[in-house]
Amino acid sequence: MNNNCIFCKIIGNEISSVTLYEDDDFKVIMDISPAVKGHAVLIPKKHIANIFEMDEDTASKIFVVAAKVAKAMQEELKCDGLNILQNNGDAAGQTVFHFHIHLIPRYIGDSVRI
Ligand code: 5GP
Ligand code: ZN
Repeated sequence: MNNNCIFCKIIGNEISSVTLYEDDDFKVIMDISPAVKGHAVLIPKKHIANIFEMDEDTASKIFVVAAKVAKAMQEELKCDGLNILQNNGDAAGQTVFHFHIHLIPRYIGDSVRI
């Protein structure tokens, strides 16, 4: 837990969020400022700033969750595609310094620019 981290506060239920999925190690929430309807972020419960701090255990589990949630999103939202986006460091556009994977549903003809 990092006291200055917004995602740690969400995981600790100090800040509310809309949760799509949760298990012992991960939480998936709706993004507060969605690029498109259904935009979610997958967050490890452990505070890891970015890929440069990622441990093997988390790395080995996180895509299993990403795939599970992506399939559920496709089923629910009937999206035509889905972008997975993951930013590391200021220079790469990271704004919340707690590792997260964006899951962004896409629709044929949508005008979203990722
Ligand atoms: P980054 O730019 O670091 O890859 O993405 C951070 C994401 O976290 C952004 O899409 C932003 O909208 C989202 N975000 C920032 N603060 C909050 C918050 O308090 N709640 C939720 N649900 N999402 C947030
Ligand atoms: Zn954190």
